Amino acid sequence: MLNYPIVLLKPGKEQSLLRFHPWVFSGAIKQLPTELEEGDFVEVRDSRNNFLGVGYFQIGSIQVRILSFEPVVIDQNFWTSRIQIAYEMRKAIGLIDNPLTNAYRLVHGEGDGLPGLIIDMYEGTAVFQAHTVAMYRNKENIVEALKSCYGHGVVAIYDKSEGTLPYKADVTPENGYIYGKNSSKTAIENGLKFQVDWEKGQKTGFFVDQRDNRAFIEQYSKGRNVLNMFCYTGGFSFYAMRGGAEMVHSVDSSERAVELTRKNVELNFPDDNRHEAFAMDAFKFLEGAKDKYDLIVLDPPAFAKHQHVLTNALQGYRRLNTKALEQIKPGGILFTFSCSQVVSRDIFRKTIFSAAAKAGRKVRILNQLSQPADHPINIYHPEGEYLKGLVLFVE
Ligand code: SAH
Repeated sequence: MLNYPIVLLKPGKEQSLLRFHPWVFSGAIKQLPTELEEGDFVEVRDSRNNFLGVGYFQIGSIQVRILSFEPVVIDQNFWTSRIQIAYEMRKAIGLIDNPLTNAYRLVHGEGDGLPGLIIDMYEGTAVFQAHTVAMYRNKENIVEALKSCYGHGVVAIYDKSEGTLPYKADVTPENGYIYGKNSSKTAIENGLKFQVDWEKGQKTGFFVDQRDNRAFIEQYSKGRNVLNMFCYTGGFSFYAMRGGAEMVHSVDSSERAVELTRKNVELNFPDDNRHEAFAMDAFKFLEGAKDKYDLIVLDPPAFAKHQHVLTNALQGYRRLNTKALEQIKPGGILFTFSCSQVVSRDIFRKTIFSAAAKAGRKVRILNQLSQPADHPINIYHPEGEYLKGLVLFVE
């Protein structure tokens, strides 16, 4: 018997849950239990009082996120088993004890049956990021689960939830170590080294989600003049250098990002004068880039974080891609990405189509890129597909 407060749905509103979609929107709820606090566990039932799932409550348009479609108690066993399942999957795809890559995502929210939770691993450090109050409140159980799963393989756990919890939530997260401490911050990806700054960097310190796409660029860079726009820690740049690029320019509007890029390039290719980094706005830089580059990477931040700004965001993507397509050398290759969840693959492709038409260039799609396997998409939760990219050949 479960002893959680019961959330009753309106008639007919159980359909998505019967198909294992883990979100319950406010409009589907007939009645919320009284005195419910953010992060409390709840049992969801249909209008006839049949069990649908166990989840947790959060203020907002998604009011319940389901943790299990079985009537289970959410205790230490639950957390340990979910983390273990996530770990086994990473093991199956060769990311555990891999001497060439020790940076990967262990938990990817809904993709790992843990909505609201992100955990990235950097060597022996786990960076924990709660996006919901429930995940934050269950931090200690999650720490225990990580310790029991990795044993000595985890030396430190860093909580980086300060900027990711809803700002009105009744919790006061502070970034900091919640287990151990790690001063070594050099991780490796496909044999390349980079500094990860989980304390001050964006997200959990590194964009692990571009791993496969960075490897891809290596294949295409031989003899090319590469522009890595929105470089952040410079990932695409040092892959291009290993791939035999003639020259690599990295650009980011953030001075700190440019510094990080320089350091990372130096770490892998000391005293290599093929590389230069510039702190500058993307549009300004592209203005002066006519026919200078024959491989350009555009990996901007998410222009649309919410549905209501979608139109503006699409204009942003169109403008940026039009500019790059106008400036790229004939025979050039463009890697272009969108990490906005609300921009679907189809809409993104149409946007690039109209940018190509506007630039008046002949463009062919060589590859369609996505997020790597350690950012899995729960098949019942298509919203989990957020990263899309196109590799274009521009005549
Ligand atoms: N490509 C990177 C991740 C990019 S994150 C990687 O593989 O790791 C997006 C980056 O865009 C951030 O570092 C941010 O500082 C930068 N940025 C945001 N607006 C910009 C602008 N107008 N011009 C140049 N860079 C910008």
